[in-house]
Amino acid sequence: MENIYDVIIIGGGPAGLSAGLYAARGKMSTLILEKEKAGGQIVSTEEVANYPGSMQNATGPILIDRMVEQCNEFGAKFEKDTIKDIKVDESIKVLVGEKATYKAKSIIIASGANPRPIGAPGERELTGKGVSYCATCDADFFTDLEVFVIGGGDSAVEEAIFLTKFARKVTIVHRRDELRAAKSIQDKAFNNAKIDFIWDSTVTEIKGDGIVESVVFKNLKTGETTEYTANEDDGTFGIFVFVGYIPATEIFKGIINMDEVGYIITDDNMKTNVPGVFAAGDCRVKSLRQVITAAADGAIAAIQAEKYIENELE
Ligand SMILES: Cc1cc2nc3c(=O)[nH]c(=O)nc-3n(C[C@H](O)[C@H](O)[C@H](O)COP(=O)(O)OP(=O)(O)OC[C@H]3O[C@@H](n4cnc5c(N)ncnc54)[C@H](O)[C@@H]3O)c2cc1C
Repeated sequence: MENIYDVIIIGGGPAGLSAGLYAARGKMSTLILEKEKAGGQIVSTEEVANYPGSMQNATGPILIDRMVEQCNEFGAKFEKDTIKDIKVDESIKVLVGEKATYKAKSIIIASGANPRPIGAPGERELTGKGVSYCATCDADFFTDLEVFVIGGGDSAVEEAIFLTKFARKVTIVHRRDELRAAKSIQDKAFNNAKIDFIWDSTVTEIKGDGIVESVVFKNLKTGETTEYTANEDDGTFGIFVFVGYIPATEIFKGIINMDEVGYIITDDNMKTNVPGVFAAGDCRVKSLRQVITAAADGAIAAIQAEKYIENELE
C-alpha cells in the first residue's frame, strides 16, 4: 500500500529536527528528508554557547546528535534525498525528490539558508582551494598562514577571532568604515593583536592556479585597486567569506509566498499561504536566526500540522 505520511519535513537542521521530535512524539507518522547529513548550519560550529541548557563546550555536532537521537527515540524516519519540487494543490501533498516521490497530509519546510557568495571572478573556482565559508571546517588548513575575512557583521568578526587561533594574521575586509557586529564582539577584535582591518573595500577578483595565490581589493571611496599576493614561502592564503545568507527556498517560488529576498512568509503558527504547508527556522521571515528560534518554530509547526490534520484536512 502507498505510504502517506502525516507529516514530511524538508530539512534536517535544528528546525526540522525539532519539528520531527514534536511530530513523532505526537504519534504522527513522520519523515525527515535531508539532502546531506542531518544537522544544517550548526554542525559547522565549534561552540554553541547560547542555546539554553547546552552543556559547556557543546559543539554543534554534539547538539545535533542528541536531536537526531530524540527523533529516532520517538519513531521519526529519516531519508537522504534532495527535494526538487512540491505539489500542494490536492489535500495529499506530493514531494518530488531526486531519488523518490513522497506523499504526506502536511509538509513542514525547514530548508534553512546557505552562505551568500561575494560574486567575484575566481571565487567559485577556488572554493575549497583557499576560499571558504566555514571557519570551523577549514581554519586548520591555514595554520601559520595569512587569512582574509570578508564581511563586518557578527559572524564575520566572530569567525575572524576564531581564526586567530590558527592563522598567523587575520585581516578583516569590510565595505564600510565601521563594523556592523555587536559592540562586545567588536571590542574583542580590536583588542586582538593578530587582527588587522582593510576598510571601505570589497574583493573584485580572486586569482590562482588550483589554489588561491592573490586577491584584488577595491577601495570603494577612492576607486583604487590593490592586489595582495601570497608570500613565496607560504604560496597561498585563506579567504573566508561571511557576507550573509540566501534562503534555500528557490524550489518553492510561485507556490509559497515569500518576501523579496526569498524568505517564506508565515503567521505566528508557522502557517504559509497554502493550507497544510508550514515553514520553520532560518528559511522564513523572522528577526532572529538562531538554533533556539529554529527549534521553537519547528515545535510550533509540528503541533499546528497535527491540528491541521485533525480539524481542517478534508
Ligand atoms: C558558522 C555558524 C555558526 C553559528 N553559531 C550559532 C550559535 O552559536 N548559536 C545559534 O543559536 N545559532 C548559530 N548559528 C545559526 C544556526 O546554525 C541557524 O540559525 C540554524 O542552523 C537554523 O536552523 P534551520 O534548521 O532553520 O536551518 P539549517 O541549519 O540551514 O538547516 C536546513 C537543512 O535543510 C537541508 N535542505 C535544504 N534544502 C533542502 C532540500 N531541497 N531537500 C532536502 N534537504 C534540504 C539542508 O541541507 C540543511 O541541513 C550559526 C550558524 C553558522 C553558519
